[in-house]
Amino acid sequence: MVKKTVKKAAKTAAKKTTKKAVKAAKYIYSFGAGKAEGNGKMKELLGGKGANLAEMSGQLKLPVPPGFTITTEVCTYYWNNKRTYPKTLKSDVEANLKKIERETKKVFGSEKNPLLVSVRSGARASMPGMMETILNIGLTEKTIPGMIAKTGDPRFVYDAYRRLIMMYSDVVMEKAAGIEPKDGEGIRKILDGLLGDVKTKLGVKDDTQIPAEELIKLCAEFKKTVKKVLKKDFPDNAMEQLWGAIGAVFASWNGKRAIAYRNIENIPHDWGTAVNVQTMVFGNMGDTSATGVAFTRNPGNGDSHFYGEYLVNAQGEDVVAGIRTPSPMNKWSANAHSKHLPTLEKVMPKAYKELDAIQKKLEKHFHDMLDIEFTIEDQKLWMLQCRVGKRNGTAAVQMALDMVKERLITKEEAVLRVTPAQLGELLLPAIDPKAEAGVTPIAKGLPAGPGGAAGTIVFSSLDAIKLQESGQNAILVREETNPEDIEGMRAAAGILTQRGGMTSHAALVARGWGKCCIVGCGELEINLNDKTVKMGGKTYKEGDALTLNGTKGFVYEGALKMLAAGEGNKNLAAFLSLCDKVRTLKVRANADTEEDALKARKFGAEGIGLFRIEHMFYGKNSEKPLFILRKMILSGSEEERKAAVEELFPFMKRDIKATMKAMSGYSVTIRLMDPPLHEFVPTLPEKQQELAKELGITMDVFKERAAALHEVNPMMGHRGIRLGITYPEITLMQSRAIFESAAELIKEGHKAVPEVMIPLTCDVNEIVAQKKLIREAYDAVVAKTKVKKLNYSVGTMIEIPRAAVLAYEVAGEADFFSFGTNDLTQMTFGFSRDDIGSFLPEYLKQGILEADPFQTLDQRGVGMLIQHAVNEGRDQKPNLKVGICGEHGGDPESVEFCHREGFTYVSCSAFRVPIARLAAAQAAAKDVLAKKRK
Ligand code: PEP
Ligand code: MG
Repeated sequence: MVKKTVKKAAKTAAKKTTKKAVKAAKYIYSFGAGKAEGNGKMKELLGGKGANLAEMSGQLKLPVPPGFTITTEVCTYYWNNKRTYPKTLKSDVEANLKKIERETKKVFGSEKNPLLVSVRSGARASMPGMMETILNIGLTEKTIPGMIAKTGDPRFVYDAYRRLIMMYSDVVMEKAAGIEPKDGEGIRKILDGLLGDVKTKLGVKDDTQIPAEELIKLCAEFKKTVKKVLKKDFPDNAMEQLWGAIGAVFASWNGKRAIAYRNIENIPHDWGTAVNVQTMVFGNMGDTSATGVAFTRNPGNGDSHFYGEYLVNAQGEDVVAGIRTPSPMNKWSANAHSKHLPTLEKVMPKAYKELDAIQKKLEKHFHDMLDIEFTIEDQKLWMLQCRVGKRNGTAAVQMALDMVKERLITKEEAVLRVTPAQLGELLLPAIDPKAEAGVTPIAKGLPAGPGGAAGTIVFSSLDAIKLQESGQNAILVREETNPEDIEGMRAAAGILTQRGGMTSHAALVARGWGKCCIVGCGELEINLNDKTVKMGGKTYKEGDALTLNGTKGFVYEGALKMLAAGEGNKNLAAFLSLCDKVRTLKVRANADTEEDALKARKFGAEGIGLFRIEHMFYGKNSEKPLFILRKMILSGSEEERKAAVEELFPFMKRDIKATMKAMSGYSVTIRLMDPPLHEFVPTLPEKQQELAKELGITMDVFKERAAALHEVNPMMGHRGIRLGITYPEITLMQSRAIFESAAELIKEGHKAVPEVMIPLTCDVNEIVAQKKLIREAYDAVVAKTKVKKLNYSVGTMIEIPRAAVLAYEVAGEADFFSFGTNDLTQMTFGFSRDDIGSFLPEYLKQGILEADPFQTLDQRGVGMLIQHAVNEGRDQKPNLKVGICGEHGGDPESVEFCHREGFTYVSCSAFRVPIARLAAAQAAAKDVLAKKRK
């Protein structure tokens, strides 16, 4: 007896645990009627759309049609388990359908009072148009009479039915089934053709003009065609439709275009999508119904007015797919193409007012610009979606500035609202206004993506990719806004489409990338067979040149002159000065000429972090100094070399002085000569002869001397400070040029703060030796020029791992460290910076390395050396100035690393200075916000 009880108890306990375990796996979260099981923070589980539907319903009590979200975990399960579902999912879906039925007082699959639902995807990160949506699920021959009885509108019901057949056969029966028809032969295209035939037969332009009887015939025709083409019946059963749709949405997570989009946007492939099943509300129930997409602010230019497009008597897909030209929401949304169309504000004032109030509430709640989808069903407004809206760089900057002014966000939040890539857009090329003023557009479309682009016409994605790979600019000309083109759109310099509105997928995607894009250019006549496009009364063929102004929507013939953008942009300046208020890291530039220094100042550089002396032997006006340098290198005796060094002096002083003057008192770090000497030995016979003549030697002797300079491994050879160790007169001359420049500038009433930088140090004794020479030059200059004192410092680059390891010793002699991460990466990896092309692509392809370490700092390896060196250096000298001057200085992730490691400054090429200012501000803002959260 006792035994039995124990056994029974154990059994019950086991049962309980299993039950508990089953219960713990919650796969579905319901929402609607002012309630929600989830909330806006649950994006990982519910996807962006599901989480925000829950937030809108549960927290904000907005009118959201009741529904439920199947979690992203089910998607992961589906893909990990041969496209099957967790055991309990079926009953969970049924239970949640019942919940909707109770709330809507309709029944799924009922003959008399049918409930219809939509099934939509929704990943954590928005992937506009990349996955699937199916509307009107539950409409069958059996439920149609009930719908007609309820609505009294057979035309509407059959319109919904034909849409269902189209979407379902395309998404579920073709795409999800893995059928890949040839371009233009897919079921959707075929059914579209039939629809077009009916319109032609009736002589009407719009779908809404097709009467019920014709739609009834068309639906029957559609079903026959589906059966003929796909060899399967269209399922006339509500439950079968629902499960087919759910499976197709999960399947679409791994559809080609979704994968391509994730690769481009760096979205992890293992996140999965959620599925949202939601009561259908109908924007296509006649003239008192509408559907639309709106933004709480203009995503194209940042203007703070409510902005959007809508269509009367339509379903959501009509707006985003660009099938009909949408009307403007209000006067702020009208453009040249839509200003004659009636606004929603005028047509449905009550619904508009409610929507306007909701959008204001949403912005206040989310503290950001939102993209919303809504439907008005017979005057009643329903919210179908809200998410943080994509915007281009111009808009992102404008909104960030405005929202700070409106006290909607803090300055730290504001700097995080603009990505480095978006800021880059403001520094994008634009058409030279002078060139544009002299020409007339050949066509006009909607300005969907900003900036300008000049390039060659192509008509397919593949050709755009090919052209880009050959280093040319492609203008991708397409009929419609097809997300299938994603890779081609990415590769093209500009995109031009015949159809689509400002909220069409192409526009959204292009805007997100800051790509120059014009959509809805109705006058284009594209002939894909001949690969030609007609516009402005003229025919252009593949390979012809076009220029797009994506900010205005103008298309021009030929390739117009482009300008580097950014200059004179007040918002850009205001935003960057906001960044300057937030950041703690200083930003300097790598500049070697007066011209670059001036440019760097314009971009906001606070000094020069790297002036490479040897660059005066490459650029403009370098003929003469280069010739002298060559004489120096190939000289036969110390006297000869010293004489050449003296000859070089005035050129060096001229450049150093002009650059320091341009930096008007900001620190200028001048690096002593670095490159391998043999690089400068002339290779052209006439140059060799000229030099031999000047040196008074025969060609044989010349060749001997040149051969002696040859090195097996020049990057590790006679370069950097090794030159100064072997030829002290070179260091003396360079130091003299630096100090005389500074002394003269001071006498002329300017400020000068030179920092002498010793390159490629491996041992502290190199610095000791060089500092003696530098001091000798300094004393001589002070004596000669009679200035009392010159402020100068001597520091070193940390480019060799040994110097990083022994940083404590090195800092004993150095006033500053500047990490030369180009060489430090080269020497830490043992990868020659000049020869990675032959193997690095394979390393990336095989996933051995995540990124090119010469572009993105290897924080784990090289970063560890840097961290060690900074810590040791500052242990020795707490005020040690620390900077970076390798290419990584302008890479946002690397800038963040430098901020974290307590660097004093980053230094990068002039045009990357604004990006570095932003990245430094973002790094600091993250600190501030993290502290606040704590
Ligand atoms: C470096 O090595 O990171 C550096 C800035 O020097 P260079 O590129 O001139 O070798
Ligand atoms: Mg270097």
